[in-house]
Amino acid sequence: MIKIRNLTKSFNGSAPVLNGIDLDIEEGEIVAIIGPSGTGKSTLLRCVNLLETPDAGSISLDGEEVPVAHASKEQTLGLRRKTSFVFQNYGLFLHKTALENIAEGLITVWKQPKAEAYKKAQAILQDIGLADKADSYPASLSGGQQQRVGIGRAMASQSKIMLFDEPTSALDPEWVGEVLQLIKTLATRKQTMLIVTHEMRFAREVADRVVFMEGGKIVEQGPPAQLFDQPKDPRTRAFLQRVT
Ligand code: ADP
Ligand code: MG
Repeated sequence: MIKIRNLTKSFNGSAPVLNGIDLDIEEGEIVAIIGPSGTGKSTLLRCVNLLETPDAGSISLDGEEVPVAHASKEQTLGLRRKTSFVFQNYGLFLHKTALENIAEGLITVWKQPKAEAYKKAQAILQDIGLADKADSYPASLSGGQQQRVGIGRAMASQSKIMLFDEPTSALDPEWVGEVLQLIKTLATRKQTMLIVTHEMRFAREVADRVVFMEGGKIVEQGPPAQLFDQPKDPRTRAFLQRVT
């Protein structure tokens, strides 16, 4: 469903942060990305929905190939509509309620009438177990609830693929479980997902495939059992020894 080819990115002429990434993801597939920090994992996600402009490469989503280094306005909007992003620090609008946060993208990106957007947002709040928090502002929600709203916002856009950037790394340990549980629920619904995570146990449990990145490249990838239990590359082995 998504084909990433030769994705390349450097910042201010320094060494490339992404060094020719090729990655295919099937419809309904759940792919976890792991790797040391500073290795380009966030940059990869940000390039997929053009929060960053890559230097080279292409992304095909549902058959439409976009030359991402010089995408037209229309192609950029198209990619943004087909992808949705869940941020490490939730990325909520602090002066908007939970309901408004979820409805926001429907109104601005999808140009839906407000009444319709709020109705959909209310249904999503119900779905994520926060129906009673519709009128709460982020500051009055727990970290776990805020991130569930962040995920609710991604759910609202009904995008082809959800991109998660370490969705639990900013959370106090007590809130991690409820967020991972919600992601697992989406997985059972066959939502296509690309998840950068440092939760190895979660990656093993939920991912169809695990990708190990280092130095802006994909070093190794495979089903979780293979990658975690029989890593082929010494760099993968060294990383796993450090983190598990
Ligand atoms: P990871 O998510 O794997 O920890 P990142 O993609 O965040 O890695 O960062 C990879 C490298 O790119 C790091 O060296 C980081 O400092 C650099 N980098 C990321 N974003 C920017 C930016 N906006 N400007 C300059 N350097 C950046
Ligand atoms: Mg990161």
